[in-house]
Amino acid sequence: MKVTVDRSACYGSAECAYRAPAVFGFEDGYGVVRPGQEETGDDPRVREAAEWCPSQAIVLTE
Ligand code: SF4
Repeated sequence: MKVTVDRSACYGSAECAYRAPAVFGFEDGYGVVRPGQEETGDDPRVREAAEWCPSQAIVLTE
């Protein structure tokens, strides 16, 4: 499972970085996946962050 952030959808609430700080960072007003953390979509905290992202900008793909 791979996790990415769709920057065009993100509006910078920073909730992802709050919920799963080991995986998500916050740069230039946008949520970002930290380098090397792209394959951590199976982590329940990542799933939770995706579910709670207010703009559904966190994308999980197989
Ligand atoms: S929770 Fe969603 S809208 Fe908020 S910073 Fe993260 S990706 Fe962007």
